[in-house]
Amino acid sequence: MNLLIRNVNLIDGKEPRPTPSVNVVVEDGVIAWIGEGAVSSFKRPHYEEINGQDLTLMPGTLDCHEHFCGDGGRYGVRIMSQESDNRDVLFGRAAANARRSLMAGQTSARDVGSPHGISITLARAVAAGSIPGPRITASGQWIQFPTTWPGANMRTVTTLEQMRDVIQEQIAQGAGLIKVGATGEHEDGTGYATLGFEVAKLVADMAHEAGLKAAAHCWYARPEDTPGVFDGARQAVEAGIDSIEHGTHIDEDTAKLMAEKGTYHTPTQSTWDYPVRAAARWGLPKEELARYEAQRDSSIASVKRCLKHGVKIVAGTDAGGAPVRHGTLVREMELLTQSGMEPMDAIKAATSLAAELTGTLDQVGTIEVGKLADLILVDGDPMYDMAALRNIWAVFQGGRRIR
Ligand SMILES: [Zn+2]
Repeated sequence: MNLLIRNVNLIDGKEPRPTPSVNVVVEDGVIAWIGEGAVSSFKRPHYEEINGQDLTLMPGTLDCHEHFCGDGGRYGVRIMSQESDNRDVLFGRAAANARRSLMAGQTSARDVGSPHGISITLARAVAAGSIPGPRITASGQWIQFPTTWPGANMRTVTTLEQMRDVIQEQIAQGAGLIKVGATGEHEDGTGYATLGFEVAKLVADMAHEAGLKAAAHCWYARPEDTPGVFDGARQAVEAGIDSIEHGTHIDEDTAKLMAEKGTYHTPTQSTWDYPVRAAARWGLPKEELARYEAQRDSSIASVKRCLKHGVKIVAGTDAGGAPVRHGTLVREMELLTQSGMEPMDAIKAATSLAAELTGTLDQVGTIEVGKLADLILVDGDPMYDMAALRNIWAVFQGGRRIR
């Protein structure tokens, strides 16, 4: 399928500023030519021609933190847990959520944990063209030492040897990354690094030997003066883990080290933004709301420290793993700008930098000749108002028009 988009405002995911009046040609699903200057028509038969005047063309976006097996919403996580023994139900739901994300312009995704590693099967089904969805980089199960996550969906290990076996299993199943929990709480509410340096390093080393990245969940709903809450993220970074997920508590030294080592931060600020906004409607108890607000405040402080030191920050919502719905990455991008990120950096956090994290930048994440035509046309200009990304005019994946 061949396509011409002319006179469009281009955000290519690379340049610091948009370029007005650009023409992009797609042939056989690949970006074949890019040229500047207003053109009335190309008059090429057998090409779909779109006049892009007043529209913005961008790379399709990539949500770096999703759980396709969960629907989001107030009770979504609980429902995913309750039905974790019914793989067919979970797979059906994951397929529906993949479609929702794609329709919102999210042409790629990273799934960071699913019961039984169902998201690996989902990623394969999408790659095979059996199911519409983003191109998915999928971890298998969540792996933890005790006290990171309650609930039945997780693989819990207690020794280094068990961790090694479970990671081997995930890799054999076809995982595209390894996801572990790195933070937990003592009974008195103080925090600690659950893995210990040796195990955290084993996780990073095993992932890297298999050509994968390792992601660590680091999360507290406690004020910053709670003892131990900065330890988990620091230890994960020191051990060579590639991305800190949530990262509610990242101190100055850890932010500096992340910048040095090239560690990514996925703040998932949607996770507490959604319940805080819904608090009145849900009748959320005061203490619960206070916990979400504490997370929000410590996350904003951590993101600011990361921005100050130049840490690579990527956009991820935690859709399905939190009350957040799939296909809402634009809200996360808005939150990143509210935490001090420039709009163009928030766009890169959801396109080129996100593709760098998932190891897919050679194929997607920017608009360049030779790359796959995963593109979105936006009615408006997200540089002036990120909300324009809610007005999707068209979505293309591999040059095929999806929406
Ligand atoms: Zn998550």
